[in-house]
Amino acid sequence: MDEKSADTRIQLTDGTIAQSDLGRTLFHEHIFLGMPGWNLDIKAPRFVRSEAMAQVVDKLQELKDHDCQTIIDPCPMDLGRDVEFIAEAAQRSGINIICATGVYTEQDGIPFTFRHMPREDIVELYMKEIVDGVGDTGIKAGVIKVASGSDPNNEYEQKMIGAGAEVSRLTGVPIISHTHGHSHGHEQVDVVEQNGGRSECMVVGHSDGNADPEYAISLAKRGAFVGFDQFGLEFFVSDEVRIENLMAAVHAGYRDQLLISHDHAICLLGRGAAIFAELAPQSSLIHIFEKIIPRLLELGLSKKGLPQS
Ligand SMILES: [Zn+2]
Repeated sequence: MDEKSADTRIQLTDGTIAQSDLGRTLFHEHIFLGMPGWNLDIKAPRFVRSEAMAQVVDKLQELKDHDCQTIIDPCPMDLGRDVEFIAEAAQRSGINIICATGVYTEQDGIPFTFRHMPREDIVELYMKEIVDGVGDTGIKAGVIKVASGSDPNNEYEQKMIGAGAEVSRLTGVPIISHTHGHSHGHEQVDVVEQNGGRSECMVVGHSDGNADPEYAISLAKRGAFVGFDQFGLEFFVSDEVRIENLMAAVHAGYRDQLLISHDHAICLLGRGAAIFAELAPQSSLIHIFEKIIPRLLELGLSKKGLPQS
């Protein structure tokens, strides 16, 4: 990292922080996540704000035992994003949190409004959330979420990714993406670049669910950061496959472009929570510190990289 980038100010939910002060950071976790309509399901567990807040603060504070000071919550605006809840959790726990502007996929998000909105108005909205804050909260977004579903040529998603790329170019704020099925990351990078964004200013999310090690390496070759961001979600691939592919990318020379996280949702709203807990019992905010980092150390990866041989 050069001196200039170390001085870059990063937007938190409560003010800014120097990049060099962010400390150990998990780049893709969720405080709060609800698929559209979760609150209409009368059989879903009831959401009680005070109870949820207590649970979130408790879980965030566990990060301190692992010397982790910062998380990025890339929850898009259409998956239950609640920036006031996030900001309160940050303030109560003492953990830095960065929240996002941007939207989810056409299939699983809320595309109606944005489908009919001119692109320049979407750019204006994202800019407002970054510069002035979300709604009238004054809480500013520090990352841009983009997402694509199973069809890389989807018109809605190309429009929304394009708007996100333009805002990234105008503000310097980075992009965190969601990919469907752990593929089509290259098509996302194409759209970002075609719209003036830079691959070096984006993380291609969920790339670790692709069992082919060449996928992550090929994205890194283009300059993008590669999200190994679902450690603990072993219903896609096992953590051991993730580790093998991560190490393959490290050996190929791309260590500095590999970002690790869990995509864990502390409060998963709706009936999905029970299903998720059953599918991924080991998912947590500290799984990487307890299980993955020790394994990477065993494989010879230290803070300074691989040992010189
Ligand atoms: Zn996520």
